[in-house]
Amino acid sequence: MKAAVVRAFGEPLVIEERPDPEPGPGQVRVRVEASGLCHTDIHAAHGDWPVKPTPPFVPGHEGVGLVEKLGEGVTHLSAGQRVAVPWLGRACGRCEHCLSGWETLCEQQVNTGFGCDGGYAEKMLAWADFAQPVPEGVTAFEAAPLACAGVTSYKALKVADVKPAQLVAISGVGGLGHLALQYAKIAGATVAAIDVTDDKLQLATELGADIVIDARKQDAGKELKEHGGAHAAIALAVNPAAFEAVNSGLRRGGKLVMVALPAHGTIQVPIFDTVLNGTSVIGSIVGTRQDLAEVFQLHAAGRTKVIYETRPLASVNESIDAVLRGEIKARVVFDLGAGR
Ligand SMILES: [Zn+2]
Ligand SMILES: [Zn+2]
Repeated sequence: MKAAVVRAFGEPLVIEERPDPEPGPGQVRVRVEASGLCHTDIHAAHGDWPVKPTPPFVPGHEGVGLVEKLGEGVTHLSAGQRVAVPWLGRACGRCEHCLSGWETLCEQQVNTGFGCDGGYAEKMLAWADFAQPVPEGVTAFEAAPLACAGVTSYKALKVADVKPAQLVAISGVGGLGHLALQYAKIAGATVAAIDVTDDKLQLATELGADIVIDARKQDAGKELKEHGGAHAAIALAVNPAAFEAVNSGLRRGGKLVMVALPAHGTIQVPIFDTVLNGTSVIGSIVGTRQDLAEVFQLHAAGRTKVIYETRPLASVNESIDAVLRGEIKARVVFDLGAGR
């Protein structure tokens, strides 16, 4: 089977021929159909963050495909079943976080495409308990972006505790933002979408944004304040200045939910305004298995639209460059060609 491998940080990925991986106890082997390109994969491949994977490794945490082989002890999945293999490859199931519904904070977690090989491959392994069944009516190409971009933005809105009639700012209308916008609308909120490219501002309008802010020409914080200030701002743009801009646009009691992970990111949080206005700054990382099940359920019910373009895995390096240049409207999904 073919896999796109990071051999050294910052170097182009290499397409390698590898033997099919053998599932161990509790694992399954998945024949990958579709695999999304998330910005996190690029940070992993570049070794951008304080925590780094160990090369050689296969990135990708939006792999979706068909279960091909069951490891020992796996009884709840069957061969041929479609599953998604998300960032949360496994968690311990026993710690304070796992037991309190916050498995995404488990310190023993293994992350797909980071701590173990991921979905940029024709075949991959998954821990069966964390491989999420994809419901009927959701294609592999739609399920792939939902497995990270979808669940991460959905969880951010839960963390923000968005309610109907609230104003929610979505900063960055890309792979995550285009879905965050739709979840905010489902929650009943008025949505202000902020971006810096015509394409993405246009996409925001098409997806039903009530207010569209062009951060090249407009001060996002000031614009939000003119609408009374945001109850919640979801920071999805990989630019620390964009975090500060929306933080300044919160109304009293508002919440800044940080989701994007710039390689080197620090923001200034004004103490006086934060105290006086009672605002919060919260980090939110991916979502639980239950969150992902809900994301798939909403999509199967026809309530969300996934914008993506398909490309062959062989284009992995050009695709990464295109994402870094901001040329991709929402999501690149690699077509692994399984089942054809
Ligand atoms: Zn991701
Ligand atoms: Zn745990």
